[in-house]
Amino acid sequence: MSVSHSGIPTQDEINTVTPPPAILNRKPVVMVECFQHIPCDPCAASCPFGAILPFADINDLPKIDYERCTGCGLCIASCPGLAIFVIDMTFSQDSALLKLPYEMLPLPRPGEIVKALDREGHEVAEVKVEKILKTKHKTYVVSIIVPKELALVIRNIKVKENHNG
Ligand code: SF4
Ligand code: SF4
Repeated sequence: MSVSHSGIPTQDEINTVTPPPAILNRKPVVMVECFQHIPCDPCAASCPFGAILPFADINDLPKIDYERCTGCGLCIASCPGLAIFVIDMTFSQDSALLKLPYEMLPLPRPGEIVKALDREGHEVAEVKVEKILKTKHKTYVVSIIVPKELALVIRNIKVKENHNG
């Protein structure tokens, strides 16, 4: 497997953590983009459904039982690495609902149009915010409606400069 040295995962790395298409096409599901063996494991304890399997070693990478995952998104804000996303390809015929971690200010508002960024920070679309969830962590969970073909591409948002927050 090729290894990214820029902090941006390679396509090979992304492929290893992409839920199987049969699952993605059936229900909302988590995608955990965690690639570094570091001592970190709060994601496992955060899942009430046991879909993030207990770590044998704290340096392990997360292992997911996609059948157990409900797509609830409770794990997203537990991750200090902002590495956890939930993808719902069943949202509508053309659109997916993407839940992502967000810590920047100003926060967008529900209904607001924001810029959608890929993993490298490039703007790839303008998308609508569906919902903002405050959590017990410093991380918010932002749900955005994205074109299905960009659900595995968009990983961040940027609030537009004319935001009146
Ligand atoms: S989305 Fe919900 S069910 Fe799925 S891994 Fe995260 S906490 Fe568990
Ligand atoms: S909490 Fe985040 S960074 Fe830590 S192991 Fe889980 S996914 Fe990786």
